[in-house]
This record gives sequence, C-alpha cells and structure tokens, in this order.
Amino acid sequence: MQADHFDQQKLLALAAEDVALAQLAHRRRTLPENAAVSAAEEAQRTLAADVVRAETEVRDLDREQKRLEADVDGVRARAERDRQRMASGTATPKEMTSLQQELDSLARRQGDLEDQVLELMERREAADEVLATARSGLDSARADQTAAEQARDAALAEIASGEQAHGATRTEVAGTVPEPLLALYERVAKQTGGTGAAALHARRCEGCRIELYGTELAAARNADPHTVIRCENCNRILVRTAESGL
Ligand SMILES: [Zn+2]
Repeated sequence: MQADHFDQQKLLALAAEDVALAQLAHRRRTLPENAAVSAAEEAQRTLAADVVRAETEVRDLDREQKRLEADVDGVRARAERDRQRMASGTATPKEMTSLQQELDSLARRQGDLEDQVLELMERREAADEVLATARSGLDSARADQTAAEQARDAALAEIASGEQAHGATRTEVAGTVPEPLLALYERVAKQTGGTGAAALHARRCEGCRIELYGTELAAARNADPHTVIRCENCNRILVRTAESGL
C-alpha cells in the first residue's frame, strides 16, 4: 500500500491514543478501589451480623428476666396469701405448721429467683456492652464503606474523563488519516488487540520490540517513504522517523 509519509506519521499519534485508552481500560478493570469497596462491604456484613446476634442475646435475656420476675411475683403473692391465712385465726394447728413450712420453702424459692435475676442483670449488662461495641463497629464500617465508594467513584470519574479526552483526540487524529490507511490501521489494531502501528526506532519495532535485520532491514531501508511497510513479527505498520536508524 502507498500512503503519504506524513499521513503515516499520524498513525503514531493514533497509536499513542490507543495505548492511553488501553491503559485506562486496564486501570478500570484492576482498580484497587474496587477491592477496598468489597473489603468494606464484607466488614460491614460481618459487623451487621454481630449486631443482630447481640440484639438477639439482649432480647432473650430481657425475656428471661421478665419470666423470672413473674415467678418472683407469683411466689410473693402465694406467701402473702399464706400469711393472711395464718393471721386469720381460723387455721388449725396442723394447717398452721404446714403453712409455715410452705412459707419457708417460698422464701428459699424467692431467694433463688432473686439470685437468678441478679445474675441475669449482670449478663444483660455484658450483652449491652457487646451490642454497643458491635453497633459502633458497624457505624464505622459503614463510614469506611462510604469513603471507599467515594474513592472508587472518584477514580472511575477520573478514568471516564481520561477516556473522553483521549477518545476525542483519537477521533480528531483519525479524521486526518486517509481512509485506506486508517482502515489498515484499524484492522491491524484489532489483530494485535492494541495498536495498529509502531515507530521503527533504532531499527527496532516499538510495537513488539524486535530488531530488524537482514533482508527485512534492507527492505525497510530501501522502501519508498510513501510505501507502507509492516513488521514481519507483529504485523504492525512500521512508521519510519528520523530516529529509525536506517
Ligand atoms: Zn513488531
């Protein structure tokens, strides 16, 4: 293919934009901010589960305490009835003895229940502390996640604006390259998955870093400046410049 030597130079600007765009796409794929967001989400999930667990524990203890307190009330009411019966003066001596035995037993039972209530209140206090710690951990995990998301969004916005700028420049440069040459560039770029042209610099293809020698070098040296030459290794359009070393 024949193409104006100066038009061939424009392909280097086009390739530079493609490199920049590929770097931005790579950065988007491998954004460390994404990992930070995932880690923050994971921490938040763990702490949210901790909060639920601690809340359940507190609720269970409350329920247990209410049950014990109802038992205490029941024992007190029973003792009160027994005392009233004893004070009524109508109970037989045998009944009086039995009532007294029951009162003793109820007193022991009440003591046991009150001990259990105290123990429960201690556990409740500890559970409250665990819950408070889990809640404050969850709050800070949420703040971490928000910060991580903001950092990620800022990085994505930066990438998007870079893509917009390089995309615009690429379109501008592509508009100045004659169609057959541009079509060839695009075809080769698709094959390499990157750029369609590379500078020949100090006898080396800047696309694949292979140095030209022998007949390939001689062919590049002897080719007309307006003839499009290609790298035999990577197939890219080789753009000759003053630094080509020919
Ligand atoms: Zn090459």
